[in-house]
Amino acid sequence: MAPVTPGEEMHALVERLYPLCRSITGDGLRATLEIIGEHLPLEVHEVPTGTPVLDWTIPQEWNIRDAYVADASGRRVVDFAASSLHVLGYSVPVAATMPLSELRPHLHTLPEHPSWVPYRTSYYTPTWGFCLAQETLDALPEGEYEVRVDSTLEDGHLTYAEHVVPGRVEEEVIVSCHVCHPSLANDNLAGVAVAVQLARALAAERPYYTYRFVFAPGTIGAITWLARNAERIDRVRHGLVLACAGDPGQLTYKRSRRGDAGIDRALRHVLLASGRPHRITEFTPYGYDERQYCSPGFDLGVGSLSRTPYAGYPEYHTSADNPGFVSPEAMEDTLAVCREAFAVLDRDRIYLNLSPYGEPQLGRRGLYDSLGGRSDAKEAQMAMLWVLSLSDGEHSLLDVAERAGLPFGTVADAAEALCDAGLLKA
Ligand code: ZN
Repeated sequence: MAPVTPGEEMHALVERLYPLCRSITGDGLRATLEIIGEHLPLEVHEVPTGTPVLDWTIPQEWNIRDAYVADASGRRVVDFAASSLHVLGYSVPVAATMPLSELRPHLHTLPEHPSWVPYRTSYYTPTWGFCLAQETLDALPEGEYEVRVDSTLEDGHLTYAEHVVPGRVEEEVIVSCHVCHPSLANDNLAGVAVAVQLARALAAERPYYTYRFVFAPGTIGAITWLARNAERIDRVRHGLVLACAGDPGQLTYKRSRRGDAGIDRALRHVLLASGRPHRITEFTPYGYDERQYCSPGFDLGVGSLSRTPYAGYPEYHTSADNPGFVSPEAMEDTLAVCREAFAVLDRDRIYLNLSPYGEPQLGRRGLYDSLGGRSDAKEAQMAMLWVLSLSDGEHSLLDVAERAGLPFGTVADAAEALCDAGLLKA
């Protein structure tokens, strides 16, 4: 049966992308962007190996066809074909036979979760390795093993992609997702799936800001985007890094380095007003790509929205972060909060009360009657009074909502009604 709800659609995308062996470069990353491209038109960029990007250099491209450890009978006891996590990311090629004692230093396990396979990489130190369950390792008898990593590490490209939802102004909001992790669902296929739905929802709304979605490998990809978009940086008004968007935990918003950027205020307001259990944490120069966007030379107002944050759950960077760990409901909840927060950014303006001497007569202008049908008529009336009171050219609608303790949407609707009545102008 075809997926019906946005949540089910997001989950289906997670499941489809899950088996691919992604990395910071290579064909798994390209295949991922191709599938995302079936949902959203993407502009795909290929940046050659050796290109300097800020303080970094585009690395060699890694591709892998097969990898295994086989016992003396030829049986594959660790097999890349079963899960992309089984090979150490960026493993150099190897074809050898060796005793278990010699193989051991190349085997990575998680003794505290003996049935889980860890996710490990070695991007910048050339080596090879395998990741497996501790219980698999414990069951291996001593003896000779055939090891094979059929990979290539060669000059090629780093691939990333953008999708733009045009707004009414050129100023931009960026939404950034890392797409470099292999078979891990919450980190970050759930973030990718939420971003895809978010882009489609925004496109249907003809937003105020232009929304730019960046799907790039972590760290080096964001650095590459920043290096290649120096002339565009001034246009970025707000930004959000989406990661770990589908686990059962409560939402966590990590503030931008500035701490009081528009996105920080919008997320705080939406999370508080919604009554959802949530956490708001201060910026740290660690985690996902907010650390690049917020680096002091750029200092963009970019925060990060997750459910359980970076490294905060036992399944993090293990085979237990599989599609069963993320739910359609959790992704829908993350999506809803993103949409509400972006609606705040899109509608937040500073207005001027055109009748500031005494309170204007709302009844005479039919403004009380206009509230008749609203279930929140009392709140809506208070919102009008607050907007009139604070619209002195210095307070934005979000300032009004915060000071009045009213939902932003109610305040923005009140401002619209007051504009229509000629009492307010932007
Ligand atoms: Zn990760």
